Amino acid sequence: MCGSSPSKDSSITLYRFPKPGTRNALRCELWAKYCFPNEAWSSPKFQEELHLKHKMLCSKHFESTCFNEKLFRTAVPGVQCYKENLQLLINAIWHKM
Ligand SMILES: [Zn+2]
Repeated sequence: MCGSSPSKDSSITLYRFPKPGTRNALRCELWAKYCFPNEAWSSPKFQEELHLKHKMLCSKHFESTCFNEKLFRTAVPGVQCYKENLQLLINAIWHKM
């Protein structure tokens, strides 16, 4: 996405766009919004496409709090991954709708 690649920088790990589903619908939406703020990021079809096209995001886009050796399942790019924060984020989004 941003041109970073593990072959150039070994400290970088790539993460594939999550597979959209009922359990991670919000997370997919946030990933899509982060990567494509000017596109149809809220569309489930668009999100599905990102997954199918193997869109990847490198570890630079995630706060260090999102890792515990591996990326947390709930991790969202650009967001600190404390559970409370994710909950706040969810509340903020729901209130907008
Ligand atoms: Zn990147």
